[in-house]
Amino acid sequence: MKRFLPFLLSIVLLAGCTPQQAATEPAQVQFFAMDTLMSIRVYNEGGEDAVQAARQEVERLDKLLSRTDADSTISALNSHAGDGTMVSLEPEVTQLLSFAKSVSELLPGDFDITIAPVMDAWGFTTEERHVPSEEALSAAMALVDSSLLTVDESASAARLERAGMEVDLGAIAKGFTAAQAEAVLRENGATSALLDLGGNVTAIGSKLDGTAWQVAVKDPQNTDEALCVLSLTDQTASTSGGYERYFEEDGVTYHHIIDPKTGYPADSGLRSVTVISSNHMLADALSTALFVAGPEEALDFWRSRDDFELVLCTDDNRVIVTEGLEAGYRPAGEDRGYTYEIARR
Ligand code: AMP
Ligand code: MG
Repeated sequence: MKRFLPFLLSIVLLAGCTPQQAATEPAQVQFFAMDTLMSIRVYNEGGEDAVQAARQEVERLDKLLSRTDADSTISALNSHAGDGTMVSLEPEVTQLLSFAKSVSELLPGDFDITIAPVMDAWGFTTEERHVPSEEALSAAMALVDSSLLTVDESASAARLERAGMEVDLGAIAKGFTAAQAEAVLRENGATSALLDLGGNVTAIGSKLDGTAWQVAVKDPQNTDEALCVLSLTDQTASTSGGYERYFEEDGVTYHHIIDPKTGYPADSGLRSVTVISSNHMLADALSTALFVAGPEEALDFWRSRDDFELVLCTDDNRVIVTEGLEAGYRPAGEDRGYTYEIARR
């Protein structure tokens, strides 16, 4: 896992660069959860308790949502696949599953949390990553269909209808966790804070001087550099990119975001997708789904809604920024060959 760490953080925080922030030491904690490095920083006075409470909340949710932890709620759901049992779940987990199903319905063929058997076929859940045989891949693909995930919100229970099916919440768990952790931070008095849950940066309130947080989107080809810098207030920026987790075999690179239509790593013309939204869970789900969808479908979907904005980085080094971000973003990769354009409604 450790050797993939550099690829897991898809957004660099540039907070701390301004003199006002350098003068104010935040209460902060860094830790490893959900397979990634996370940090929580609270800038207003007395943030220690808030930081610790938020960390506990993240760790609680990690235990519920991990499919590699045999004792988790998700493992209980997965272990009963195909045996007809409605598995009782925490209400928050049931809501998360319903939300994930709704994203699959909004963007058919792009997003599916029952992708787990395909992730396993590629070895992404282990350190033994490899290109699967056609037989192994088609057997796994036969198990991917989130319409066969039955969710009963009123009973707070769910069921996988086919034996062998499994749910993998990797595309959405961090956004969901950001929303829950934000609530805990606020209950504990945090008004000016940053959550970095590995590729999902949530800006809570604004900086202490009242101006927006400055958050850099990583250059997917050079992750020590910024692609652009965004001004965020009470929003999450969630980035999905092939560079976050991948392996090479016979000179070909294979990454971890799978096109549910083919079972292969998505190859839609994008290097990375960043979704900015005040709905943290939506930002996370859409960054994965729109990475699979590709630039045209992503922009069409953006035009059909008003609850998120996008930064798309294409394979041919165009950075497409949707117009809602125009006033608050700054390009940062012109010297590395990127060109910048604004997408309009
Ligand atoms: P993210 O980093 O948020 O884009 O999520 C990527 C993770 O989501 C992968 O590591 C898988 O666990 C899972 N995943 C991969 N492809 C898909 C997909 N098409 N739909 C839903 N989840 C996916
Ligand atoms: Mg995601």
